[in-house]
Amino acid sequence: MTLSSAQTDGNQTSGNQAGWTRVGERSWVRPDGGFALNTGLVIGDERALLVDTGSGPREAAEIFAAVRTLTDLPLVVVNTHAHGDHFFGNAYFRARGVEDIWAHTAAVRMMEETGERQRRMVREFEPEMAAAEGPDTGIDLPNRLVSDQPVDLDLGGHKVTLFHLGRAHTEGDLLVGSGNVLFAGDIVEEGAHPSFEDSFPYEWQKVLGKLIAIDELYTVIVPGHGAVVDPDFVRTQYHRLLQAIRTTTTAIHESSTDYTKAVPVLPYGPVQSRHLILRMKATGPGGARMMLR
Ligand SMILES: [Zn+2]
Repeated sequence: MTLSSAQTDGNQTSGNQAGWTRVGERSWVRPDGGFALNTGLVIGDERALLVDTGSGPREAAEIFAAVRTLTDLPLVVVNTHAHGDHFFGNAYFRARGVEDIWAHTAAVRMMEETGERQRRMVREFEPEMAAAEGPDTGIDLPNRLVSDQPVDLDLGGHKVTLFHLGRAHTEGDLLVGSGNVLFAGDIVEEGAHPSFEDSFPYEWQKVLGKLIAIDELYTVIVPGHGAVVDPDFVRTQYHRLLQAIRTTTTAIHESSTDYTKAVPVLPYGPVQSRHLILRMKATGPGGARMMLR
């Protein structure tokens, strides 16, 4: 690594500093920036894994400083998906010696296609990133890809697993398992309604079902935003989405011209409900055919 902090106690630190909360044996979480992104950190004996890099160089610099209060080890990065609040900090970390940035193949494609367009979303908190002006404001694409087969990363004495359960919040959502801790990205959302804008609602519900099916493996779930939750929370989110899909399906069938009448009875805010309906129309239940596993 090109930078290091004065602290040298590496992975022996217990956490609860610089905003970190310890959520597992070697796993930490820290909410950062204007989007209250949950950045994850897993510290092995030889390397540390950072889960998501923030919405631009300002937030990334805070995350990096916070990481260096816990460990001086070389960093590997993973992006859970292609939304700017999760990967716009990539260029900052790349400039500080990070070689491997992992993401799902479809997420990288989406970053490439929509990255420039997404800049305006961060203008309030990351004006340089929004304007593409100044250091570390490039759209830096992940160079290590995951598709349908899970990838195990050995961090030295501790293994993490990167895996994809199907399209959900976006086309390329990646999950990170570390011991009994699961970093779920925006597949799980706490404290706010789920974001359906780029979602595949029918498949998202199936992905949540798969998470419930493996709830004995992961007892601590770190959402992309909000408080750390347990499998019961995921179960509730699953049933709520199932109910919302049923309600919307009925509304679509009953009234092909004004299916938005379902909005007031859906269990989400009006904006999210409209996006849910639009995405259900756009992706359709047959979208499941596209799933590879
Ligand atoms: Zn997202």
